[in-house]
Amino acid sequence: MQKQLTEEKVFKDPVHRYVYVQDQTIWDLINTKEFQRLRRIRQLGTSYLTFHGAEHSRFSHSLGVYEITRKIISQFERNSYPDWPVEERLVSLCAALLHDVGHGPFSHSLEEVFDTDHEQWTCNILLGDTQINRVLKSVAEDFPAKVAAVIQKKYPSPIVVSLISSQMDADRMDYLLRDAYFTGVNYGTFDLERILRVLRPHKGKIVVKESGKHAVEDYLMSRYQMYWQVYFHPVTRSSEIILRQIFRRAKELYGGGYRFGWLPESFKGLISNTLTVEQYLKLDEALAQAVFTEWAEERDPLLRDLCERFMNRQLYKYVTIEHPDETLLEAIRECFSSIGMHPDYHMEIDFPYDLPYDVYRPDQQAGEKKEKAPILLLHGEDEISEISSKSDIVRSITGLHQGQYRLYYPEEPLREAARFVPESLKQLFRLEEKGD
Ligand code: ZN
Repeated sequence: MQKQLTEEKVFKDPVHRYVYVQDQTIWDLINTKEFQRLRRIRQLGTSYLTFHGAEHSRFSHSLGVYEITRKIISQFERNSYPDWPVEERLVSLCAALLHDVGHGPFSHSLEEVFDTDHEQWTCNILLGDTQINRVLKSVAEDFPAKVAAVIQKKYPSPIVVSLISSQMDADRMDYLLRDAYFTGVNYGTFDLERILRVLRPHKGKIVVKESGKHAVEDYLMSRYQMYWQVYFHPVTRSSEIILRQIFRRAKELYGGGYRFGWLPESFKGLISNTLTVEQYLKLDEALAQAVFTEWAEERDPLLRDLCERFMNRQLYKYVTIEHPDETLLEAIRECFSSIGMHPDYHMEIDFPYDLPYDVYRPDQQAGEKKEKAPILLLHGEDEISEISSKSDIVRSITGLHQGQYRLYYPEEPLREAARFVPESLKQLFRLEEKGD
């Protein structure tokens, strides 16, 4: 049953000013413990170590995605566009609100080491024995599965999927604005109101009126800037590397029968790959940081050092390298081993890379292979074109390859042993200036 609240609820939000809740179901979902857990998971993982303002949570982002989706739908409803299926309103709003509910602490680093997938966890939470599942079921028996299908991009009505997951969806629009706001950077902003006004439902897709082209270009530029200035910031990458190494070391130790001073059940489930939904929901960043604080006093010197580094922001330094050829890496490995460093942990190559916009290829079936749907412009009543074919700006930013190899390493042990480092590497690690 779809019930409206007798009195509209509002949340004060720094990005959208207010978030409006009119449906009982949305209100009930926000009040479940699984959704409240998102308050304890940061939206930007370890970025707070680079941009100290970046403490915002997945809770605020999820409300933001919901609010943008609500505004888009309400614009469609106000204009009574026949191509918008009105019966899809609630499923769209629920999917928008819940799309990130399966994120774990420091999600991306965790997913890389343990091969978990937040989207899969989102579905497990929606379909499992949870408060969220009970709220969704009160709408209809098959409603949890419907919302999960939207998040998995398998929902039969593609227009609903593209609201939540396309190259200009409510998710991306919210996180760009929110991350720009909380990191305090000046780029990353674009005219959201304008974009919301020029979106149209059109034959099962969401398209942009031609006159909105410049606002979309601005959105893509902001995405481009945010990637290079914030998401791929070398200091953030360094903290992610250390975090992954903590998880990797813990897993390795656990596999070897090491006895930890403190290992909460949920962490044991994580590192032994036996997590239940109940355990997964106990994992949050507060717990992870408490564990790291304890592990900074573990017997294993490597785990201890990594945790100390992470908690006290003693991150790895980096040098950029032209190309990571095997001869060079082998020389570094050898040198590191000879001075008591750990080549499996103390050196890591990073090559951050992403495109602000994926140019659509005609052979690409959007949705099918999880590719995100392209941005389409609507000319007049019925003519559609993909944006890069009409915009020099979009074409130019999608052609930019700015990738750069960075080699990360702990500076102190290397500097202390500088006189044992071969001449050929001294220059690379800039050791000769302050040498002994
Ligand atoms: Zn999101």
